[in-house]
Amino acid sequence: MIEEKDGMKMLELAIIGGGPAGYTAAIYAKRGGVDFILFNDGIAGGQISTTSHLENYPGIPEPISGMEFSQRLVKHAENLGFEAEQSLIEKLEVDENGITLTDEDDEVYRVGMVILATGAVSRPLPIEGAASYVGRGLSYCATCDGNFYRNRDVVVVGGGDTGLEEALYLSRLCRKVYLIHRRHEFRAVKILQWRVAADPNIEVLLPNVPHRVIGESNVEGLEIKNVETGELRTLEVTGIFSALGVVPNSELVKGICDLNNGGYVITDQRMFTSNKRILAAGDVVASPLRQVSVGVGHGAIAAEQARLWIDEHCNIDALRKHKS
Ligand code: NAP
Repeated sequence: MIEEKDGMKMLELAIIGGGPAGYTAAIYAKRGGVDFILFNDGIAGGQISTTSHLENYPGIPEPISGMEFSQRLVKHAENLGFEAEQSLIEKLEVDENGITLTDEDDEVYRVGMVILATGAVSRPLPIEGAASYVGRGLSYCATCDGNFYRNRDVVVVGGGDTGLEEALYLSRLCRKVYLIHRRHEFRAVKILQWRVAADPNIEVLLPNVPHRVIGESNVEGLEIKNVETGELRTLEVTGIFSALGVVPNSELVKGICDLNNGGYVITDQRMFTSNKRILAAGDVVASPLRQVSVGVGHGAIAAEQARLWIDEHCNIDALRKHKS
């Protein structure tokens, strides 16, 4: 990294996002001799750090917690001699000579390329006023908040892998777990469906959607609606765990890179976006599968492609010529 007189920092590559995709890109960039910075806003691992068990990652036969996986990412980085810069990048501007990044503290970085590995965040529970119950009974993370609901009744909303995993996790702590989903078929993998079906503490209610949160300031219940009959039913629960999928964190490159209808970044096989200086990796990418193993693969490809591109096209003098 070169620091200019005006405080601006210049580097060949910036990796934005410290999940499995971002850390993998950084590991490959480090080993490839690329001058890079890894930005992360929050805990290493991103979404995976909140998962109860990671059990489908090859080479880790004993399931480990998302938090342990997160710690291993940090350790791996330490062993290679780098650490993530705890910083939120708020602005990304591209010109013909490079990319200018500005963080939340108005620090400015000038880089030749970016790997966007910003991941995704939970889709909000689609009920008016639901946001006011966050931290008062509405949660988006069972492993983070499940302990507060020991021996209580809770409901999980969502029929994907996350919904079923959360129901199974909460079933060990809570008195009773309702699981609601809008269709008769679950999207989740079969192994999770079998485990849910075998769990006497989980009551599955299909096909239902959440209709109204009940409670003055804290959750005291959830009214659900059967989408076929229109029948309303109130579940007397003090916890609602919403697992309705994710929305990509692609705001930073909106108008700069092509996005699909869901807001995911479109890449080619080499992880290049429609902008030649920006690659993308992990859950922010329009990909048929969103898994740690996929993000890791994306991150490795993106870092290697960035290295090749930088070797051919990136030079510090060009970076200095930025339009301000
Ligand atoms: P997901 O697979 O997108 O599932 C979201 C669920 O929410 C679906 O059942 C969907 O219903 C439902 N839903 C979405 N919008 C809704 C709405 N407005 N009203 C009612 N229901 C709604 O999300 P996810 O479970 O968080 O998983 C995200 C990604 O991470 C997936 O690729 C998943 O495989 C991966 N993941 C993997 C693991 C693992 O491998 N162990 C664990 C967790 C997550 P429909 O099915 O009807 O669309």
